[in-house]
Amino acid sequence: MLLDGFGRHVDYLRLSVTDRCDLRCSYCMPEGFKGYEEPKHWLSFDELERLLAVFARLGLRRVRLTGGEPLLRKNLPDLAQRLAALPGIDDLSLSSNGTQLAKHAARLRRAGVTRLNVSLDSLDCARVRAICRRDVLPQVLAGLEVARSEGFRLIKINMVALAGTTDEDIAAMVAYCMERGFVLRLIETMPVGATGREAGFLDLCPVRERLRERFGLIDGVVPGGGPARYLVSPDGGFQIGFITPISQHFCETCNRVRLGVDGALHLCLGQEDRVEFRPLLRGGCSDAELEQALLEGLRRKPARHEFGERPRQVVRFMSSTGG
Ligand code: SAM
Ligand code: SF4
Repeated sequence: MLLDGFGRHVDYLRLSVTDRCDLRCSYCMPEGFKGYEEPKHWLSFDELERLLAVFARLGLRRVRLTGGEPLLRKNLPDLAQRLAALPGIDDLSLSSNGTQLAKHAARLRRAGVTRLNVSLDSLDCARVRAICRRDVLPQVLAGLEVARSEGFRLIKINMVALAGTTDEDIAAMVAYCMERGFVLRLIETMPVGATGREAGFLDLCPVRERLRERFGLIDGVVPGGGPARYLVSPDGGFQIGFITPISQHFCETCNRVRLGVDGALHLCLGQEDRVEFRPLLRGGCSDAELEQALLEGLRRKPARHEFGERPRQVVRFMSSTGG
């Protein structure tokens, strides 16, 4: 079992397979961003498979492919298949902005990806264009329809709640998700990178109470729901999660770490502590040394983020760690 220095059980890895993206969401990446990681620094599929096999031997159980936009990494379904086959890994999921989903959904499903999170902040074309700085709403909706027909076990819509997101924007998304059987999650903006700090924060606690009343929702528990707190419809058919790292932080139950495409294992989304695996992998180290580095790193996992006290702390953009 992988335990950190506070006795938290870490069994979940968010794996960023690229820091590149075809969108420029205002809260995530600067519009003219060019500072991508060099391809020679990307961990190869062989390196990733080896490293995750080591992690899985120690107790890693769940992996989420993320980015940047993970579907921009060439041959991603091949990597998905290799990771899904690793002994110990029993859950492989993907976070995507959905722009390439129509093209890749079938291969991803066959490769062993069972659950999808798709980011969608509005159902209004102009608002999506303003937030993502690209005109992609029809593409994303088409991708979601294809994904739905491919029989993924669970599809969640991740909607970042920005200052300026109205109850009506959220109500429209609730209706859309109810109709299609998607789980909706509302996320508070986090001050990760200058983009995250400038995005404008909306406290989701009052929003939750208004939605509870308007749609007759009740408190619910969703297995594997991670840090989200859920409301559900009385018949259980619709679920909406609230990810509130700012208004109600949940660090005491943190179960995850994040691996960047460059091989840096980030121990906390809100801190800079990390373990550099690329030099180890490329320096000819043994599996035992990789195990040692992971165990030693986990002992240094910070107790919590300090988004409130030290909001300028994290200079990297969310696209480099995958959210
Ligand atoms: N490109 C993929 C996507 O958009 O789903 C995967 C990577 S993206 C960085 C992962 C998640 O982080 C998305 O749901 C996105 O909305 C969220 N995110 C990005 N920047 C954020 C911020 N500053 N605060 C809160 N969530 C953020
Ligand atoms: Fe790209 Fe996802 Fe960041 Fe948007 S949130 S810019 S889609 S990585």
